[in-house]
Amino acid sequence: MKAIAITPGTKNLRLVDRAEPHLDAPDAIKMAVRYVGICGTDREEARGGRAKAPEGQQDLVVGHEMMGQVVEVGSAVTRVRPGDFAVFTVRRGCGHCMPCAMNRSDMCETGGYLERGIWGLDGYQAETVVDREMYVVRVPPAIEPLAVLTEPLTIVEKAIDEAVALQVKRLPDASTSPNWLSGRTCLVAGLGPVGLLAAMVLRLRGAEVLGLDVVDANTARPTWLTGIGGRYIDGRQVKADQIAAEYGGGVDLIVEAAGIPQVEFDLLEALGVNGAYVLTGIPAQGPPLTLPAGDFIRRLVLRNQVMLGSVNAARGHFEQAVQDLERAHQQWADHTARLITHRHRFDDVGSALAHHGADEIKVVVEWNGGGTAAHV
Ligand code: BGC
Repeated sequence: MKAIAITPGTKNLRLVDRAEPHLDAPDAIKMAVRYVGICGTDREEARGGRAKAPEGQQDLVVGHEMMGQVVEVGSAVTRVRPGDFAVFTVRRGCGHCMPCAMNRSDMCETGGYLERGIWGLDGYQAETVVDREMYVVRVPPAIEPLAVLTEPLTIVEKAIDEAVALQVKRLPDASTSPNWLSGRTCLVAGLGPVGLLAAMVLRLRGAEVLGLDVVDANTARPTWLTGIGGRYIDGRQVKADQIAAEYGGGVDLIVEAAGIPQVEFDLLEALGVNGAYVLTGIPAQGPPLTLPAGDFIRRLVLRNQVMLGSVNAARGHFEQAVQDLERAHQQWADHTARLITHRHRFDDVGSALAHHGADEIKVVVEWNGGGTAAHV
């Protein structure tokens, strides 16, 4: 079968032939891959950045944001049947710590986890893939074209869920509210796919959403945000202290999805008293920053603020993501599908990895007749 592989640490990304995987256990599931999304991590791998081949192999099959159709299941499988659409999760446990034993490798304590398509395990840019039932989540047919967004959406499901859980625990009146986010003001920093999906989840929960980026307001990403009732803020014109002044001293929650350290620290000024700030971007290695560290810590302490990082996601976040995609599809119909701006056949992966400027939101690679392989 065909697959897309890279020799980690090089720019040698190419189409390769691989042996087709077979069911190897009663709880194994085989899927024909339909779509695989491209994200910043894939582009970093393709530039020779962070990636690791499976032990004993020189190459890594890339791709971790997948959606496929089940073609075969082992005798013990009950969650999906052949013909169902489904997604596989990304991370696999280290085999040593308690979170991994509980299928919560997103909270692995040893750092010995593996990630399909990123770290030590082949990924999903291939015609067929096999994995175990504990890593599968079924997708309703109505959201088949959207479900490739499930994995990036899980990143924000976990991040927002953790921030809200902290707030509900900390704020005296929060535990009496069934949905803490309803009516709160939330700022999303960086309107790539992860930022826009964060805005989508926050809107679904009834929050007022401000989205900050540094592109023109009439381009694809700000336009998508305003289409779900968010407000666009051009960070080239509006500074963090102005946001704070306009919103009663600051916003309730910041979700960061930009991966630019300077911006991340500057934005602390927009966070209100008792606010929460959750970081999801993974900055590339760069020169050190000079920061007014004392001001930064004083502000955090005197204002009872919490800042936390969040990576990867658990199976439960995948289930939540599928439910939220269904709700978004009902609420905003075709608008949700416009998050996918570019589609490329698997043999055109070079174009898929290229940057498409201000027009681009999510780029998707198609396998096995998924979609029409046309630029949308
Ligand atoms: C993926 C995560 C992964 C992280 C670190 C992200 O691009 O979406 O699943 O844990 O990279 O490798």
